[in-house]
Amino acid sequence: MTAYIRGATGVWEVVIGLEVHAQVTSKSKLFSGASTDFGAEPNTQVSFVDAGFPGMLPVINTVCVRQAIKTGLGLHAQINNESVFDRKNYFYADLPTGYQISQFKKPIVGEGYLDIDIEDDKTKRIRIERIHLEQDAGKSIHDMDPHKSFIDFNRAGIALMEIVSMPDMRSSEEAKDFMRKLRSLVKYLGTCDGNMEQGSMRADANVSLHRPGTPYGTRAEIKNLNSVRFLGQAIEYEIKRQMEILEDGGEIKQETRLFDSTKCETRSMRSKEDAHDYRYFPDPDLPPLIVTKAEIDEIRGELPELPDIKQARFVEQYGLRIKEAAVLVSEKEYAAYYEKALEASEAFQDKAKASACAQLTANWILGELFAAINKDGIALDNSKVTPELLAGLVDLIENGTISGKIAKEVFADIWETGKPAKSIVQEKGLLQLSDDKAITDVVLKVINDNTDMVAQYRSGGKDKLFAFFVGQVMKATQGKANPSIVNKILKEKLG
Ligand code: ADP
Ligand code: MG
Repeated sequence: MTAYIRGATGVWEVVIGLEVHAQVTSKSKLFSGASTDFGAEPNTQVSFVDAGFPGMLPVINTVCVRQAIKTGLGLHAQINNESVFDRKNYFYADLPTGYQISQFKKPIVGEGYLDIDIEDDKTKRIRIERIHLEQDAGKSIHDMDPHKSFIDFNRAGIALMEIVSMPDMRSSEEAKDFMRKLRSLVKYLGTCDGNMEQGSMRADANVSLHRPGTPYGTRAEIKNLNSVRFLGQAIEYEIKRQMEILEDGGEIKQETRLFDSTKCETRSMRSKEDAHDYRYFPDPDLPPLIVTKAEIDEIRGELPELPDIKQARFVEQYGLRIKEAAVLVSEKEYAAYYEKALEASEAFQDKAKASACAQLTANWILGELFAAINKDGIALDNSKVTPELLAGLVDLIENGTISGKIAKEVFADIWETGKPAKSIVQEKGLLQLSDDKAITDVVLKVINDNTDMVAQYRSGGKDKLFAFFVGQVMKATQGKANPSIVNKILKEKLG
């Protein structure tokens, strides 16, 4: 991962820090019992608290608190026994109270880290500064009427975790890796659904440039990036924009910018001078939030096997390469699919074959199966190729019933029909030919039909011509002959 970029006047280093808003998975909102379901009719999931009615008292939702702690533990972070909710005051139509309840000086989660996979099977540690809990705002809708704006308060008051990284990333690739890894982690933890299209996760990217070895430069913050691709594009654009200014001897203004995904550029939204003074102060309606060590330990006990640990186990237990394991654990469903397929495989139960089978199963998932789900744009769990069906296919390859080449044909069939490999092979007569006698007959026929080639072979053209003979035998058997037996018999009869 190249840390430095070369400009006309020398080298620059890129510095990136992310602030990720992740919607907490919870049935009800942070301080009210209203539902958090996505896609309901506007303003049907709004309590008096969310609507900012006078005299309403917020009551903390312990589920949201536990989710934030769980996320913190997944990020190896310090969990603060005492945290405080503050009022962040600003006026906006979709914020009916005139303030957002957030955590400013004393967040619930302190410093932690997330290791991202970079090239050459190495990892890089990105430090987490903090996670705080806060309320989401409502949603203003400006495109339903030429003269009027509408507001949907369903989102108002839903719990968000703001996960803030230290400025430890050095390229858009690293920022994208961080985002993907964080998304995968919260999905494993079940603390956020990670659904970026629905806005359950969005990132603000802070980007600056400086000369290596000098203090960090002034940063611009790009708001509300709701896909990993946009995050990468926005950062790339921002790097170019800042570099042009700096190379010209100009200065970067600290400002907030917006990314226009159709034009693929960032635009200034507000400068630091018009930054709000939020007049934070502790919310008098809410006492400090206290969590005990015992409560934290209890939540720690509920943590599932986390992606990094699963990845290390896949390498250790199944002999996979780090990159292969990383892809298989990148989504909880992929890892579960892989292990279900192994469990269902007969070859895997056989000690002598287990390691080859583990590798072969990984190859089929990462190769043929992923290609198919990408091509047809469906989720792995919705594919007709269940883990059990894939295991059946792998077993037929492992026990020599079909060749790898025929297996691709069989796979395509399973993909379409959801039928077991065994029945497809029987119906279509695709059994691998492993019978010495039958293969010998074909070899002899090929030799008889190609006497001139045989003469050439025997007078020295061995290497090149051998492949020709293998090809002929395969053609004569429609690809069904067992390649190692074909090689053995051909060598015998030719040599
Ligand atoms: P603020 O108090 O204005 O929110 P912070 O210091 O908390 O600023 O930083 C907010 C985000 O900006 C963090 O993700 C941090 O990593 C990042 N950041 C801070 N300084 C820089 C910089 N010079 N370049 C890039 N990102 C930065
Ligand atoms: Mg900050």
